[in-house]
Amino acid sequence: MEWEVVIGLEIHAQLATKSKIFSGASTAYGAIPNTQACAVDLGLPGVLPVLNQEAVRLAIKFGLAIDAELTERSIFARKNYFYPDSPKGYQISQFELPVVGKGQLSIELEDGTEKIIGITRAHLEEDAGKSMHEDFQGQTGVDLNRAGTPLLEIVSEPDMRSAKEAVAYMKKIHSLVRHIDMCDGNMQEGSFRCDANVSVRPMGQEELGTRTELKNINSFRNVERAINIEIERQIELIEDGGEVVQETRLYDADNNETRSMRSKEEANDYRYFPDPDLLPLVLDKAMIEEVRATLPELPKAKKDRFAADMGLSNYDASVLTSSRELADFYEQVLAKTDSKDPKLCANWIITTLLGALNKASLEIEQSPISAEQLGGLLIRISDNTISGKIARQIFKALWNEEGKDADSIIEDKGLKQVTDTVAIEALIDEVIANNAAQVEQYRSGKEQVFGFFVGQVMKASKGKANPAQVNEMLTAKLSS
Ligand code: ADP
Ligand code: MG
Repeated sequence: MEWEVVIGLEIHAQLATKSKIFSGASTAYGAIPNTQACAVDLGLPGVLPVLNQEAVRLAIKFGLAIDAELTERSIFARKNYFYPDSPKGYQISQFELPVVGKGQLSIELEDGTEKIIGITRAHLEEDAGKSMHEDFQGQTGVDLNRAGTPLLEIVSEPDMRSAKEAVAYMKKIHSLVRHIDMCDGNMQEGSFRCDANVSVRPMGQEELGTRTELKNINSFRNVERAINIEIERQIELIEDGGEVVQETRLYDADNNETRSMRSKEEANDYRYFPDPDLLPLVLDKAMIEEVRATLPELPKAKKDRFAADMGLSNYDASVLTSSRELADFYEQVLAKTDSKDPKLCANWIITTLLGALNKASLEIEQSPISAEQLGGLLIRISDNTISGKIARQIFKALWNEEGKDADSIIEDKGLKQVTDTVAIEALIDEVIANNAAQVEQYRSGKEQVFGFFVGQVMKASKGKANPAQVNEMLTAKLSS
């Protein structure tokens, strides 16, 4: 039987505020355990939560960025459960009325087409503390520094049909929240986390299959692996006559397997009710407009602009706008080259620079070659001072810091392209004179030897002859 995979993601993004969502305690990462949890975060008797306005502004920013309906009057609710890392006995979240309603985001699929993924909602909530199972000799420690940290939980529609699509969507959200300075996106520090809901159904069936929810996935790579292994497990289970049980499963990256953690609780298990200590959150138009004015150009708009104004393919434009840093780098290279050849700049960044960075496991911010330096190099290709081949040689030299800019390297190593027709003609004549047999072959119709001549002339010029000129002059000479 053919199976269709259905995936919906719940992403928790930590909002980049200095203090917690309902208290003034710091959200800074890495402090000594239990030094950043105040009476409000602990839910001591008599304290009252006060909503952090910056958290609201960041949620609005996100809503605007995904074209969502913003809820004019949203409500905070208590989600009741008992767990050692939550001393209040409940989490303040939003349930029936989330601050951000329906929105959408488009992702690029491997075949180059776009797909719209629906976003059901995004709501404000507080994070819990952290249970620490290591270093306590069979006991568990609790660090409440995280308790009360502001989160935006972004819930997608079950619109994804493969692990790859889920990763593409997650990466898109990751890039967007960083782009709008809503979240630092640091996955190691837990600022960006994802739960994946996975089910399968026979191809063509409308009704959704029973889902499981995978927790504890902390990297893009593991999202893909966890989903794929869970799909395999579900299909095998059903084909063997079993049934998928709705439950929460833990992904174990070391053994690449998912394990049952607890049976899935229903909303009514949590006894949600409006938090009597908090007023409804009312968004007024002025505040929304004020936030809108702080939005940078969004990735989608940037991508469309790159494609339209720079003549880039959809694919190239989307690679270059995959992060704000990369887009900025591209625009700096353009500025340095007076935007003379935007496609050349795009090609060099995507193929050569990103390739080299990838190999060295570096991010664009860590590039050994600055935008200024790359721009300086590309100018010399455009004005025919050097060939593409020599440019790759200079790129290596810049990467290895053998010179400070392309021009000084060209000068020092004498790499200037030979465009002087007389000089090239002399080289061609020499090559023709030394290879009579090949000339004979070429003239009797074996045109493949042409490449041989080009190679010989380029070699004789130490790679510096202008290839287009060599081609043109060789053709003329050999057929005369
Ligand atoms: P809960 O909050 O209890 O986890 P929700 O209804 O809010 O439940 O759904 C959470 C996520 O699960 C959403 O992203 C949704 O798209 C996804 N989802 C719901 N049903 C399915 C299903 N049958 N298969 C895959 N994903 C699903
Ligand atoms: Mg859930």
